[in-house]
Amino acid sequence: MRFSGLRILAEGLTGNRGWRPHWRDPAPKDAYDIVVIGGGGHGLATAFYLAKEHGLTNVAVLEKGYLGGGNVGRNTTIVRANYNLPGNSEFYSHSLKLWEGMEQELNFNTMMSQRGVLNLCHSDGQRDYYARRGNSMRNQGDDAELLSREQVREMVPFLDYDNVRFPIYGGLLQRRGGTARHDAVAWGYARGADQRGVDLIQNCEVTGIDIENGRVTGVRTTRGAIKAKKVGIVVAGRSGQVAALAGMRLPIESHVLQAFVTEGLKPCIDNVVTFGMGHFYISQSDKGGLVFGGDLDFYASYAARGNLPMAEHVMEAAMTLMPMIGKARVLRSWGGIMDMSPDGSPIIDRTPVEGLYLNCGWCYGGFKAVPGSGYSFAHLIATDRPHEPAARFRLDRFTTGRGIMDEEGTGAQHNLH
Ligand SMILES: Cc1cc2nc3c(=O)[nH]c(=O)nc-3n(C[C@H](O)[C@H](O)[C@H](O)COP(=O)(O)OP(=O)(O)OC[C@H]3O[C@@H](n4cnc5c(N)ncnc54)[C@H](O)[C@@H]3O)c2cc1C
Repeated sequence: MRFSGLRILAEGLTGNRGWRPHWRDPAPKDAYDIVVIGGGGHGLATAFYLAKEHGLTNVAVLEKGYLGGGNVGRNTTIVRANYNLPGNSEFYSHSLKLWEGMEQELNFNTMMSQRGVLNLCHSDGQRDYYARRGNSMRNQGDDAELLSREQVREMVPFLDYDNVRFPIYGGLLQRRGGTARHDAVAWGYARGADQRGVDLIQNCEVTGIDIENGRVTGVRTTRGAIKAKKVGIVVAGRSGQVAALAGMRLPIESHVLQAFVTEGLKPCIDNVVTFGMGHFYISQSDKGGLVFGGDLDFYASYAARGNLPMAEHVMEAAMTLMPMIGKARVLRSWGGIMDMSPDGSPIIDRTPVEGLYLNCGWCYGGFKAVPGSGYSFAHLIATDRPHEPAARFRLDRFTTGRGIMDEEGTGAQHNLH
């Protein structure tokens, strides 16, 4: 079934009786060529590109809950390609280009909105760093504009420009950045993969990984054993636990990240705005809610819910940057489990087990990576060679120390990235 304006009109006139479920609900087969563990954004995009780019359709995605129930449906939906370091720069640049063609590629409305991402700076040093970062972005072929304080004020007049501690000096704007509807991205990739013959199997938790003579042979699940020639682990916050099923100890820590949404308001924030002196960022959803978030909960945890001290911390940052937010009522908050790597950059690589591949370490920036990660991981699984834009996301950088991509410059401390 293809979506189009004509189709919506026709369905509207005939009582909307023609719509069908977006994907099948197949029982798992005994064996597949490729099993992808994890039905989040990255796992579904991987399955889609395996089928579309490599013609590999004897593929299953195994999801322990429901498709899109993990971080892909819990994030604050920000999409950008504003990295500074080689490795990250080319990868996110490629990913943003895929975002720009995603709705056509998937024939699905993911509500991609290139409303601009504006990072504020609050000191001369920070402005200098943003100038350097903007130049890196432009060298990579992406857009970046350094804005003066007055240009920022024109765009977002409601901020506290003269805050005694954190006056606003200007900002770095990427107009091609923005937001997309997060769960629609999962549904779009799921539908596209299913249409190409991939089996999407929900309520199917992987509980074991079978290895013989150093090679993966299949997985054990709550719905029985499944043989597979190749297996990809793409389980975000659960990466450490699932990799342990194959005897691996990953350099990943899991931490909770929270987000918040207010009651619906009239349109007041056109862009995504990030505070440069505290971990706070905000945008306005299409329903009018102010969507915002902040720091990790600071300690390792697998609880997909937040706590009050961090809620207070985020609200304080919000009030510092834009006091008018104090009048809005928060409707709800939620949390997701982040797969934090020591340098804040991801891993897309083979593992020491033949036929077993790993995709993790997305920290709190993995939503914007969904298309690029799926594309690169599919390439790696299909060809056994790294995809060029993701070639630096190697697992061994944490043992050799070569190729570390520490964008934040905070060193090997997971919860500071
Ligand atoms: C509050 C919050 C805000 C965020 N904001 C942004 C943002 O603005 N921009 C951005 O780029 N990123 C953001 N992120 C990060 C982004 O959401 C994640 O990095 C990304 O979604 C992770 O990849 P995923 O979608 O594949 O993960 P998930 O959706 O979590 O997918 C992993 C899946 O694996 C499944 N799984 C786990 N164990 C097993 C098993 N044993 N067997 C089978 N299945 C299993 C899980 O059930 C889950 O569905 C945010 C995250 C949170 C929580």
